[in-house]
Amino acid sequence: MMEVDPVCGMRVDPGRARHKHVYKGKIYYFCSHHCQRAFERDPEYYLTHGPQGMLK
Ligand SMILES: [Zn+2]
Repeated sequence: MMEVDPVCGMRVDPGRARHKHVYKGKIYYFCSHHCQRAFERDPEYYLTHGPQGMLK
């Protein structure tokens, strides 16, 4: 079972993920510290727009 990094869209294995964040009772997994930090800064943005948030 793979989870999707909500910031960049990469698939993350929850069993091995080192980067995760709980938001509104749900656990989100990230490929990197960078993606986790981005999500923590503005969770609603990534939940609203989906995993294209890396684009600038
Ligand atoms: Zn990522």
